[in-house]
Amino acid sequence: MQELTSLALESGQPAYRGQQLFDAIYRQRIERLDQISTLPLEYRTRLAEEGWRVSLPGLAGKFVSSDGTVRYLVKLVDGETVETVWMPEGDGGERGDGSEAGDEIEAGESQEHVVEGFRPAGRGQAPSPRLHRATICVSSQVGCAVNCKFCFTALLGVKRNLDAGEIVGQIVAVLRDQGVNPPSQRVNIVFMGMGEPFLNYDNFMKSVRLLVEGVGIPESRMTVSTAGIVPRIYDFGREAVRPKLAISLNGSNDTLRGDVMPLNRKWNLAELMKAAREFPLRTREKMTFEYVLIEGVTDAPENARELVELVRGMRVRINLIALNPGTELPYRTPAEERVRAFREILVASGILAFVRRPRGRDIFAACGQLKRTVEIASVSP
Ligand code: SAH
Repeated sequence: MQELTSLALESGQPAYRGQQLFDAIYRQRIERLDQISTLPLEYRTRLAEEGWRVSLPGLAGKFVSSDGTVRYLVKLVDGETVETVWMPEGDGGERGDGSEAGDEIEAGESQEHVVEGFRPAGRGQAPSPRLHRATICVSSQVGCAVNCKFCFTALLGVKRNLDAGEIVGQIVAVLRDQGVNPPSQRVNIVFMGMGEPFLNYDNFMKSVRLLVEGVGIPESRMTVSTAGIVPRIYDFGREAVRPKLAISLNGSNDTLRGDVMPLNRKWNLAELMKAAREFPLRTREKMTFEYVLIEGVTDAPENARELVELVRGMRVRINLIALNPGTELPYRTPAEERVRAFREILVASGILAFVRRPRGRDIFAACGQLKRTVEIASVSP
């Protein structure tokens, strides 16, 4: 917004042209400069002559899962592609922390349960006739540098960071394709696609501000997940406007976590948990930890007990993710029984724990499966 205002001022235009540009790009989602009818023709032409372009990333592929999840292959201006996932339905129970909607099997949180379509009056905008609980999972980098042993994106390595416009662009393009319009229709954003958002911190934070101010999605409906870039966790805690935080734990002791996440050798569990414990949570906010259950590696009852000790006394929720498998990986998915037993140990210790329902495994859209798969039947966008 500030940048657009400066752009307008530099060309001798009134400051409000910045706002007009902003609204045209982010609210009305106009795709071409010459179509922004709120601007004088002369100014539109001049911007075009100066080389300015308004562009939305193209949807180069669209894969629809039997569970309704849609995986988009999004093409950027330089021809690189990233993936963005649309998860249409929520978890069947809004629990007041929006961005978690759409992902988990509800368990043990009944006092926060709000009946569908019935929301306390007098707060915020009126609910739309059809209550949307869709979640968009967005990428922050082309590939990823973190190299977690169980994640497919790691196989790609990292090519480059996305800029803020490319992060927001994925969301705007998907909203358009789905015909959903915030803020009147609700949508949750999770920064959990390809890449490590905290290794592209400034662009990620800028995209958050654009989404809040431009697209009309409040930060309370956003969650960012980090593999554990400790210095950025401290920075993030100091942000005035920020999404909720989730940390990928995935191992209950340093040896185990170091094996599956080599990053643990740089920032070990003691450092990570210190940052997590010092993180300034807001009222009613909880720290989320993700924990991927890998058969015979991270899923032992002993691991669950270690996890209980790690988070003792913290206001947390733990999202358990049974490994989404793939032929390139040497790991297997634990049996359902094993997953249930692991969760039971956490719950018995008074910890809020959920098993994240796999979404779109059949189209390679589930957690950790984003690696730009194009070899399956595509439905044209
Ligand atoms: N880089 C960030 C954002 C990605 S979030 C992060 O690591 O947090 C993706 C989530 O999926 C992470 O919690 C990650 O641990 C998990 N994940 C990765 N590969 C997976 C797989 N094969 N099966 C299940 N979950 C996986």
